[in-house]
Amino acid sequence: MVYTVRCVSCGFELYRGPEPKTVEAVAKIWGGYCPKCLSPIERRPIKIAAKLLTRPR
Ligand SMILES: [Zn+2]
Repeated sequence: MVYTVRCVSCGFELYRGPEPKTVEAVAKIWGGYCPKCLSPIERRPIKIAAKLLTRPR
């Protein structure tokens, strides 16, 4: 499984990895702001996607 956390404003991929991360942990990595659109990373749940490591058909 690959977990991704995206910015709600611009869709920038803030985190991508094999383990799920909390929004708070992801916000800490970037200093609380999205590096692309500079909007604050909110505490409430943002888009977290889990995908299987399979090739697209
Ligand atoms: Zn953003």
